[in-house]
Amino acid sequence: MTMDKQFDQFRASLLYCNKCGRAMPVRERLLLVLPDGELYDYLCQGCGSSLGSKTERATGPKVSPAKMQSPPPGQQRRAPKRKR
Ligand SMILES: [Zn+2]
Repeated sequence: MTMDKQFDQFRASLLYCNKCGRAMPVRERLLLVLPDGELYDYLCQGCGSSLGSKTERATGPKVSPAKMQSPPPGQQRRAPKRKR
């Protein structure tokens, strides 16, 4: 197996498994693709049971949250609301 190359990536992926009775390495499995990310399922590599899940935000290149591109408030056009 080529675990060595991937090991660095999965180093923190140890979750406690009830069936195995100890922290086990887990395997990421893509469960759902959401509009703003992807939902991953964590499967125990020992017995294959699901140990949890996480949502990975679909982010492009690294952008610091503080530098989010948002138009200045003055330039936002208000769409006329017609709710009657
Ligand atoms: Zn297990």
